[in-house]
Amino acid sequence: MRAAVIRGLGEGFLVEDLSIAEPIGREVLVEVRASGLCHSDLHFATIDFGVPLPAVLGHELAGVVLAVGPEVQGFAPGDRVAGSLVQFCSRCDACLSGETYRCRSGAELMRGPDQPPRLTDAVGEAVFPVFGTAAFAERALVHENQLVALPDGIPFPQASVLGCATITGAGAAINAARVRPGDTAVVIGVGGIGLNIISGAALAGAEKIIAVDLSDEKLELARRFGATHVVNGGAGDPVAAVQEITGGGADHAFEAIGLPATTTQALRMTRIGGQVLLIGLQPPGSRMEIAMMDDVITPQRTVKGVFMGSANIKRDIPVYAELYLQGRLNLDDLISREIPVEEINDAYELMKTGQIARTVITRW
Ligand SMILES: [Zn+2]
Ligand SMILES: [Zn+2]
Repeated sequence: MRAAVIRGLGEGFLVEDLSIAEPIGREVLVEVRASGLCHSDLHFATIDFGVPLPAVLGHELAGVVLAVGPEVQGFAPGDRVAGSLVQFCSRCDACLSGETYRCRSGAELMRGPDQPPRLTDAVGEAVFPVFGTAAFAERALVHENQLVALPDGIPFPQASVLGCATITGAGAAINAARVRPGDTAVVIGVGGIGLNIISGAALAGAEKIIAVDLSDEKLELARRFGATHVVNGGAGDPVAAVQEITGGGADHAFEAIGLPATTTQALRMTRIGGQVLLIGLQPPGSRMEIAMMDDVITPQRTVKGVFMGSANIKRDIPVYAELYLQGRLNLDDLISREIPVEEINDAYELMKTGQIARTVITRW
């Protein structure tokens, strides 16, 4: 099968023919019909996070089940599924309380060193399946805990983004921030995640949703997801603009870029007693500048880190899929381009310019 392989950090993706094993245990073999290009894959392809190489990245997938391992209970060949990088064991305290995003035993879902590798290259060397999904490939072997059945009617590209961009963004607003009807929210950075935060805040009933970005094109797009106000951070002081629109600060400020400067701005955009939610992945060693008295103690603000939208994928993905079918969740405008796998390097170059919402591989 065809796959985009990483052999060296910063060396880009190489399209190769790999072998994929038969499913064992609770593994499901999926024919990948759509695979979203997330910014995190670019981080993993260029920065050393300890991932063994060679490796296959990709974690936003949707497709059709081809075969299932002997212990699989929830899926059968022919099922339409979406996958996610969230790995959970379903036995620990976090999983049993439904907070599967807190599970620390997700590595159990991978094959052990005594088992044959899921992926091998042309000379028989093992290729590491990152996130347990390895979705930049024609087929993926995924533990059933990382898959969710899809309703009929949702196209594969739209379904592929549910497993990362949508659960992370919408979940940050709905699960982590617990936005309430009438609240005000500001979202800094309106890429794939930020647009979904706006969707989540809109679904939760926020009255004012302010999108902040440097691109007017992206800010216009943000309106189609529910932004009621837009602020170009390059034109004047964005903190003052948000304070003005909200009459003293937002209830919730979401930082979806991952920069220390915008993190401090997010904090200062919230009202007395407001909260700032940190979603963007920060460069290693990043520090947040906080004036203890003026930024936090006197205004009684909360700073909260959010990972994967505090999502329980088995509960949340079917809900988002249904809301899409009802026309209440915009996924169509999230998909900016569909490409063949050969264009993956060009697509990531284009993503660096900041103009693309989501590119999806749909041809191998
Ligand atoms: Zn992602
Ligand atoms: Zn667990």
